[in-house]
Amino acid sequence: MAGALEQQAGCAVPQAAFDVLKRYFGYDSFRPGQDRMVSAILAGRDALGVMPTGAGKSICYQVPALMLPGLTLVISPLVSLMADQVRALKAAGARPAYLNSTLTPGQQNTVLKRASEGWYQIMYVAPERLSDPRFLAFAQAAAAPGGVGIPLVAVDEAHCVSQWGQDFRPSYLEIASFVGALPQRPVLAAFTATATSRVRADIARMLRLDAPVTVTTGFDRPNLYFEVRELGDKAKVAWVCNYVREHAQESGIVYCATRKKVDELAQDLWHELAPFGVRVGHYHAGLTADERRANQDGFIADQIPVMVATNAFGMGIDKPNVRYVIHLNAPESIEAYYQEAGRAGRDGDPASCVLLWNGSDFNLRRRLIDRDPGDSELDVEQREQAKRNRFRLLSQMEGYCRTTDCLRAYILRYFGEQDRRDRGAGATQQSGARMAAGSAATAASGMGAAGVQNGAGAAASHGCGNCSNCLTSFATDDVTAAALAVLRFVAPRPGRFGKALIADTLRGANTERIRSLHLDAEEAYGALATLSSARIKDVIDQLTGCGYLTVSPGQYPVIGMGDRGYEALEHSERFTFTIKRRASKQAPSTRAQRAVDLLRDEAALDSRPRIGDDAELFEQLRALRRELAAERGVPPYIVCSDRTLRGLCRQRPATHDELLAVSGIGERKAQEFGEAFLKAIASFEDEHRR
Ligand code: ADP
Ligand code: ZN
Repeated sequence: MAGALEQQAGCAVPQAAFDVLKRYFGYDSFRPGQDRMVSAILAGRDALGVMPTGAGKSICYQVPALMLPGLTLVISPLVSLMADQVRALKAAGARPAYLNSTLTPGQQNTVLKRASEGWYQIMYVAPERLSDPRFLAFAQAAAAPGGVGIPLVAVDEAHCVSQWGQDFRPSYLEIASFVGALPQRPVLAAFTATATSRVRADIARMLRLDAPVTVTTGFDRPNLYFEVRELGDKAKVAWVCNYVREHAQESGIVYCATRKKVDELAQDLWHELAPFGVRVGHYHAGLTADERRANQDGFIADQIPVMVATNAFGMGIDKPNVRYVIHLNAPESIEAYYQEAGRAGRDGDPASCVLLWNGSDFNLRRRLIDRDPGDSELDVEQREQAKRNRFRLLSQMEGYCRTTDCLRAYILRYFGEQDRRDRGAGATQQSGARMAAGSAATAASGMGAAGVQNGAGAAASHGCGNCSNCLTSFATDDVTAAALAVLRFVAPRPGRFGKALIADTLRGANTERIRSLHLDAEEAYGALATLSSARIKDVIDQLTGCGYLTVSPGQYPVIGMGDRGYEALEHSERFTFTIKRRASKQAPSTRAQRAVDLLRDEAALDSRPRIGDDAELFEQLRALRRELAAERGVPPYIVCSDRTLRGLCRQRPATHDELLAVSGIGERKAQEFGEAFLKAIASFEDEHRR
């Protein structure tokens, strides 16, 4: 059904919508999906937009809101974002408002009064507000004949209506009856970045969407570069310090698994960066509200470039120019990872998502899951089920860390999307040196990802060309002997020993523990004396990842036998087991391009002579933007985006009209900031002309 409707909605976007897009937002064209959503809404159809972070969902309802007569209501659970959205819309010259608990009762009265007088075009409200009798009375009067009219209700984060999702909000269930209570039914448009079909169906049903036009733009974020690195704990910290120093001009987030790690890493970074005058922020639930706010504000204002945080940081952070997100530890699921990593590059410019991991990350996560008593509202069986589910998600995360296949493809398959794009041209050139790519079919299963292959030389799949696996070549080693030795040792004593002790025994280590357990008398003792402990542990990990071995979930995980392991031994199966190691690293370690590099790339596209260096002008304009923002008490990105700054450097406007031709500068911004930018550009050129 959705497909057919989607086609009907393919009708053209009215010119007036383009005019609004240009006049208020300074953009020349709609992004994919935005056009279909806007034209559906303007045609009076309900609509459901499934779009990933950064796709530009807000434009979809803001443009109609600025065109339709009356007041558009936007229902959003993120109270902290409302003020930001309203500031941005004001800066664009619109008449927005928000109504939430951060306003005093007096302020709320004023907002409602002005709203019923037709002062606003768009109003953000929290879902709880809908059941407030005063608000309902206001909305009913507004939607009645003679009222200002409510042409559109937009529901942001619409998956909150589904009990299947992680973010269920009971107050979202009120939306349908609220809309039903209005004397004239508005168009209903729902937006979400969560795509499972179950949640999608829930949204349509629970919000009672009327034959909605469904627009899905896919989950891929082509501007994000994905990288996975297996590093020891110390090496991780050193790597992060180095990376952050090299990118001190850019904004970035480093996520850690625990508060303690956040504090430690923030300390280390501070030592590393303080001599360069670079500030380091940190954020977790253990800090006071004031500390958290100070750190967050500094980050948003571009005064603190790097934020070290637990996953408590980020909900409600809309900063578009985050250039990198590094994870110091593997998160618990691909969903969580993609959500956190996806905070990079919302502005569409290149950004990097780097995951640093090692085996102990997963031990820690297993312990945390195991110890979690679970939701007290569930019965024992349900709790067990929930736990098993979490272990399954974790093993898929581990698969991501271990796969040698395209990381982007792995994620997209996880979300049930085929890698539809055939980016052959760019990809073949990049991945030509790759020898043995993981099999595409197994990569997302969480099991096959560890790299078991029968025989060598599986065909290299066409990768995305923008992830560390696609830019790396792999070699394969035969570790059959090691794998068999491990299986033979574990089989008679499943669940007795942990990974380290098994590795030590096979390696023939002379330790107190081995002697006291008489493991040195075992036949297996020293059987793999030529291998390092790390290598043997790696083999154990791989065997675990593929179901030959199992790991107990407890605090001290012990190794057991998996079904495949018994089978392999029982049938004396001669299996070829290959382990992958990175043979050569072609990927530059820093894919988050700095503004300077982007400027150079963009400058190469046009050959117009320029006075002075773009990069120098960029820094001046960036400083100017900071000043303009500080004067108005808003974050710099409300003044304009980095991309707009680059546009100014490249196009060097000298007149008001030329200014309007720069993407991201609408009429209001040209009026308010134009003069300052034009002056800065002119004086820069004067200075460099001589
Ligand atoms: P989402 O809510 O889907 O995460 P946003 O609405 O915050 O995304 O938009 C992400 C970024 O994309 C913003 O910086 C926005 O200004 C920019 N953007 C949105 N639509 C367009 C467009 N048509 N052209 C250029 N930039 C756009
Ligand atoms: Zn790739």
